[in-house]
Amino acid sequence: MLTDVKILDVQKIRKDFPILHTLVHGKPLVYFDNAATTQKPLCVIQKEEEYYKTLNSNIHRGVHSLSQKATTAYEQAREKVLRFFNASRLSEIIITKGTTDSINLVASSFGKKFIKEGDEIIISHLEHHSNIVPWQLLCEEKGAALKVIPINDKGEIIFEAFEKLISEKTKFISVVYVSNSLGTVNPVKEIIQLAHSRNIPVLIDAAQAIQHFKIDVQELDCDFLAFSGHKLYAPTGVGILYGKEKYLEEMPPYQGGGDMISSVTFEKTTYNSLPYKFEAGTPNIAGVIGMGTAIDYLNEIGMDLISSYEKDLFEYANAKLSSVEKLTPIGTAENKLSVFSFALEGIHPHDIGTILDFDGIAIRTGHHCTQPVMQRFGIPATARISLSFYNTKEEIDFTADALKKVFEVFG
Ligand code: PMP
Repeated sequence: MLTDVKILDVQKIRKDFPILHTLVHGKPLVYFDNAATTQKPLCVIQKEEEYYKTLNSNIHRGVHSLSQKATTAYEQAREKVLRFFNASRLSEIIITKGTTDSINLVASSFGKKFIKEGDEIIISHLEHHSNIVPWQLLCEEKGAALKVIPINDKGEIIFEAFEKLISEKTKFISVVYVSNSLGTVNPVKEIIQLAHSRNIPVLIDAAQAIQHFKIDVQELDCDFLAFSGHKLYAPTGVGILYGKEKYLEEMPPYQGGGDMISSVTFEKTTYNSLPYKFEAGTPNIAGVIGMGTAIDYLNEIGMDLISSYEKDLFEYANAKLSSVEKLTPIGTAENKLSVFSFALEGIHPHDIGTILDFDGIAIRTGHHCTQPVMQRFGIPATARISLSFYNTKEEIDFTADALKKVFEVFG
C-alpha cells in the first residue's frame, strides 16, 4: 500500500519570496544568511502594507472602528503565537521587540525581584551575547555570580559539568536551544528537568529553534522562552517572551508608560493585568500582525515538513561542504542543525565572504555575536552558511564550487 508522503515543493515555495529572484553582481541571489535574518514571504509583506493602507490606528485605546479592528488583528496574532508553540494562556504571551528585548525583560524584572547578593545564575558557553550581557549586568548590580557550562571540542555542552555547577546558590538558568554560531542543539529538556528537580526556573533562547522545528512550551515545561519574529519569516522589531504566569505575576514591570497601567495618580500607580503589564507604549502593530501572517504561512506548509526538508538539506550541505579541500568545519556536535560554520586554511573568513558575494552568495562571517565560542576554538571568526527551507541542493553545489575559486584567488 502506498502511504501519502508529503514532499516540500521548494520551487513553488521560492515563488513566495520575491527577494530570492533578485540578482547580486548580476548573479541569482543565493541567500545563506538565514540565522541572521530570514527572508519574508509576499503574504507577510502584503499584510504590513494592507495594515497601513486600511487599518492604521493605535490599539487598545480607541473606541473608533479602525482602532478596534487593529486591536482585534493585533490580539489575533497573539492567539496565533499561543497555538504555534502550544501555550495555554494568552496572559503568558508577552509581545516584545525580539529575543534581546525578551531576555533583558526577564533579567531586569526577575532579577530585581528574586536575585540577591551571593546568588548564582547559570548560562552556557554557547550563548549569544544577548544571553550573556543582560545577566552580567544583573550580576554586577546585585553582587551575584555568573557560572558558565563548558563545552567540548565538538561544541556540545558538558552535561556532567552542568550538574556540578548547580548548587543551593543557583537561582536562574538561561540557555540557548540551538547555537547560532555552531548549530549545536542543546539538550534543553534534560536541562529543564534537572533544574526543576531543584526548583530553579529556566529560560530558553529559542531564536534559532522556533523556525526549524515544532516547539511545545507545555511539553518542554520551560519557565520562559524567547524568540524574534524576524528569524521566523516575520518583520523585524517584533518578538515574543513566553513566561509562566506564576513568575510573571510576581515580577515587577520592566518599563513604565502607556498601556501597562491600570490607574495612575501622582501618589500611586497600579498595573495592568498580564500580559499588558509588560507591554508599555505603542508597539510595532503592523509587525505583530505580520508575524501572525508568517505563522499562518508556516502552518500551511507544516512545521514537520519544514523540519524534515531542512534536515535532509543540512545533511547534504554538511557532507558536500566538508569534502571541500582545506575546509575545516567548526562545531561538529552529534545533534546539530541548519548552521555550517567553517574555516578555510590560510584564508580570512571576511575574504571568503567577499569572494562568495561576487557570485551572489550571501554568507555571514565574523564572531556571530558569540565571542566566547570563538575564544573556545581559538579563532577570531568563522564563515557561516545557515539554511532555510527555501534553499536547495543546487545552491549548495554552486557554493562548494565557489569555495574552490576562493583558493584560486587567495591560495
Ligand atoms: N540568541 C540567538 C541564539 C540569536 O541567534 C540571536 C540573533 N542572532 C539573538 C539571540 C538575538 O536576537 P535579536 O537580535 O533578534 O534580538
